[in-house]
Amino acid sequence: MSPIAFDNSYARLPERFYATVAPTPVAAPRLIRLNTPLALDLGLDPDWLEGPEGVAMLAGNDVPVGAASIATAYAGHQFGGFSPQLGDGRAILLGELVDRRGRRRDLQLKGSGPTPFSRRGDGRAALGPVLREYIVSEAMAALGIPTTRALAAVLTGEAVRRETALPGAVLTRIASSHIRIGTFQFFAARGDVEALRLLADHVIERHYPDCAGDGRYLALFEAVVAAQAALVAQWMTIGFIHGVMNTDNMSIAGETIDYGPCAFMDIYHPTTVFSSIDEHGRYAFGNQPPIARWNLARLAEALLPLLADDPDRAVAIAQEALGRFDPQFQQNLIAGFRRKLGLATEEADDVELIKALLETMQRGEADFTLVFRRLSEAAGRADGAQACRGLFADPAAFDAWDERWRRRLSREPASANERQGAMLGTNPLFIPRNHLVEAAIQAAVERDDFAPFETLIDVLSRPFDAQPGREDHARPPAAHERVIATFCG
Ligand code: AMP
Ligand code: MG
Ligand code: MG
Repeated sequence: MSPIAFDNSYARLPERFYATVAPTPVAAPRLIRLNTPLALDLGLDPDWLEGPEGVAMLAGNDVPVGAASIATAYAGHQFGGFSPQLGDGRAILLGELVDRRGRRRDLQLKGSGPTPFSRRGDGRAALGPVLREYIVSEAMAALGIPTTRALAAVLTGEAVRRETALPGAVLTRIASSHIRIGTFQFFAARGDVEALRLLADHVIERHYPDCAGDGRYLALFEAVVAAQAALVAQWMTIGFIHGVMNTDNMSIAGETIDYGPCAFMDIYHPTTVFSSIDEHGRYAFGNQPPIARWNLARLAEALLPLLADDPDRAVAIAQEALGRFDPQFQQNLIAGFRRKLGLATEEADDVELIKALLETMQRGEADFTLVFRRLSEAAGRADGAQACRGLFADPAAFDAWDERWRRRLSREPASANERQGAMLGTNPLFIPRNHLVEAAIQAAVERDDFAPFETLIDVLSRPFDAQPGREDHARPPAAHERVIATFCG
């Protein structure tokens, strides 16, 4: 008997919301890693999960009693073009559980075999992308950014065919829910207003209970706008590039979801793109805020029938609410960069100070993460800029900015020590740098060596702590280590 107390609220929605489907068993499940702290947080027994029954569940070989086992339906705009039917083509929602803090969480297998939404896909995942999602999503969680989590990764003992044959794997993903903008679009595209209403009510009860009552659908839209504005601002202050911000990859709960060709920037430049499929840079680093707003406009369109009986009135309401995205995003962004620069008070010129640093970084081809970390280290000392200026191709340009920053800091009430402490807790030393992620994946895929993966996971679980002996995990890639493109799998 499974010790998991599933409670599957999504499966209680009408049948047209999903397809009931069992995972396809795999030949030889082998647990790569169980996220024990997360398991405990979820109220799950790590010993059971690591045992034969647990691994059978995590591999999709055994569906525990009480699980729902469904593939959810959704649509989505992919690179701007609308697909009325996508859906979980290689993921199966085993069900929901309520964690130790009373929060409802989805437990989903990714790579668990075909579903009615698979189209031409095999429903499987290769080991590389599974490890990438595990590493990056757990790093995001440790950085304090809303995200889905990785509970476990399992090797299937089967090969998946991509350009070559690759080891297959299954990721167990935990999320507040897997409801996306595209879930609303699925029903809107079918003119199914009753389903839209049921979905919206489900989302309100589950994610935004404060929105309940009269005017709840507008309140819901406003809440999603606020959540996305906050999320994308966090991405922008940490150098994260999602890579595939299609509307089916934007969570209604405001979590980072669907780690495909995602990446962290090394050298700062707003046009940075890693994704091999993003030929035109639609999802480049600096485009993420307008793309988030564009995606929210698609959500607004889907919600129109719920916003007002009169279509013109509904559009006016939606536009006004959407108009709040830019100011909310800006506010979050500026607050985030103020924290990164150790500014506890607000001055009108701060925005210019932030912009000037970013421009200097861009021209000086400076490493985004290390600049802020060195500034944090320097913040405690009057002469501390030495280590930072060396990150810029033109150190003199940095010196001019540094002087300006120092003058600004002199008007801050906090002591240098307090400021340094706050900055060191805001500006990470360790991020999942592409070359480290690639090296960890390569060792696992080519040599069945999971040691670099394990070390990386461990380092990234404490991104703000100096970790003696692990300095190598903090440095930017050397020229020959630089990763040019990331791939989905
Ligand atoms: P993504 O680009 O990961 O957001 O996926 C877009 C759509 O393609 C989703 O509906 C996925 O379920 C589906 N998909 C991606 N990879 C596969 C695969 N290997 N087999 C079946 N469906 C897939
Ligand atoms: Mg997706
Ligand atoms: Mg995906």
